[in-house]
Amino acid sequence: MEVVYSYLKDQFKPKEGDMQVKYVELSQGFDVDETLRAIRQELKECMFTLGPEVSELEVNFARLCQTKYAIGVNSGTDALSLSLEALGVGPGDEVITAPNSFIATAGAIVAARAKPVFVDVNDEYNIDPELIEAAVTPRTKGIMPVHLTGNPADMPRITQIARRHNLHVIEDAAQAIGASIDGKLAGSFGVAAGFSMHPLKNLNVWGDAGVITTSSDELNHKLRLLRNHGLSSRDGVDIFGYNSRLDTIQAIVALNLLKNLDKITEARIRNGRIYDEGLADLKEYLKIPPRRANVRQVFHTYMIQVRERERLIKHLEENEIETKVHYPIPIHLQKAAQHLGYKPGDFPVCEAQASTILTLPVHQHLSDEQLDYVIDKIHEFYKA
Ligand SMILES: *Cc1c(COP(=O)(O)O)cnc(C)c1O
Repeated sequence: MEVVYSYLKDQFKPKEGDMQVKYVELSQGFDVDETLRAIRQELKECMFTLGPEVSELEVNFARLCQTKYAIGVNSGTDALSLSLEALGVGPGDEVITAPNSFIATAGAIVAARAKPVFVDVNDEYNIDPELIEAAVTPRTKGIMPVHLTGNPADMPRITQIARRHNLHVIEDAAQAIGASIDGKLAGSFGVAAGFSMHPLKNLNVWGDAGVITTSSDELNHKLRLLRNHGLSSRDGVDIFGYNSRLDTIQAIVALNLLKNLDKITEARIRNGRIYDEGLADLKEYLKIPPRRANVRQVFHTYMIQVRERERLIKHLEENEIETKVHYPIPIHLQKAAQHLGYKPGDFPVCEAQASTILTLPVHQHLSDEQLDYVIDKIHEFYKA
C-alpha cells in the first residue's frame, strides 16, 4: 500500500526534470504578426534607413527618458562613442569609468580615441563616487558611469563631482531603460546617455540598435550629422562622420515593443523582489546587494554574490537552471587593456566580486513556479 501510495504521489507531482529555467526567452514577447504588418507597410514606402518610424521612436524615447532629444543609431556602443566624439573628447583625453562593465563601455572610450581610466565599484556593483575625485587629472574630460544590472549609479553625487571639475557626464544606460532615482529617469542625468536595444536588453529589437538621449541642442545637431556621414543635405557635408544610422525595420520593432515596456519592467522588478525575499535567509552563503528605496531598478540582470560559485552553477545546471556571470574578467585585466598598465589588485572590490558574482534568470516570462524552483534549488545546494 505504502509503495503504491508513494508511486502515485510521484506520478502526480510535477516531475522536476520537466522544469527548465532558461536565462532568456527571446522567441517570446514580440507581437510578431503586428510587427510584421507594420514592416510590410514600410516595405511599400522603401524608407529603409532613417525612415519616419525612426523619428517616431526618437520622439517616444525622449519622452520616456525625460530628455529633449533622442537620436537613433546603430548600436549602444556607437551611442556612447559618438556622444564622446560630439563632446569633443578625443586623443589625449581621459574618461573615468567602471572596470566591471561589459567591454563596450571602455571600448566606446577607446573608439573615441580617448583613454579609459578605471575607478573601483561599490557593493551595488556601480562606480564608487568616493573614489572618483582621486582619479581626476588635468586630462580628464568626462565620467561614464554604468547603470549596471539596470540599477542607476549614484547620479546626484556623480553629477556634483563632475560640475566641480568641469567634466562631461555620459551615462552608459545600455542596461537601464526605465530606471530612475527619485522619479528622474536614467538617461536624463548626464549631458548625454547611450542606450542599447541589442536582443539581450530589456527593450530589444531583431538585431543591433542604439539610442542617444540628450537635452542639448548643440549635441543633438552634431550627433545627427555624425551618425550619417556628416551630411547636412543630400550633397552637403559639414563634418566627417560615420555610418551609424538606425534601420527603419528595427525602429518598427522597437516601437511595437515600447508599448509593453512598463509591463516588461514591472515583471522584472517583481521577479527581482521574489528572489530578494526568497533568498534573504541565506545570508551566510550569499549576498544580495543593498536596494535603495528611492531607486527604480529595472533588473536587466539579477546579480548576487555567492559562496562556492562554480559548484552552485553546476548544481543549478544539473537542474536545468541556466545562469551567467557578468563578467568573470574585469576590463582592466583583459588582454586588450594591457597597454593601459593596470595589474591585479588595482580594484580590489571589483576583483573580489568578479570571482563571486552570479546572475540568475530574471526575464519577464518567468513563472512563479520557475522562480520558486530556482530559490528551492539554491536552498537545496547550501542546506544539503
Ligand atoms: C550591451 C551594452 C553595451 C553595448 O551595447 P550594444 O548595443 O551591444 O553595442 C554597452 N554597455 C553596456 C553596459 C551594455 O550592457
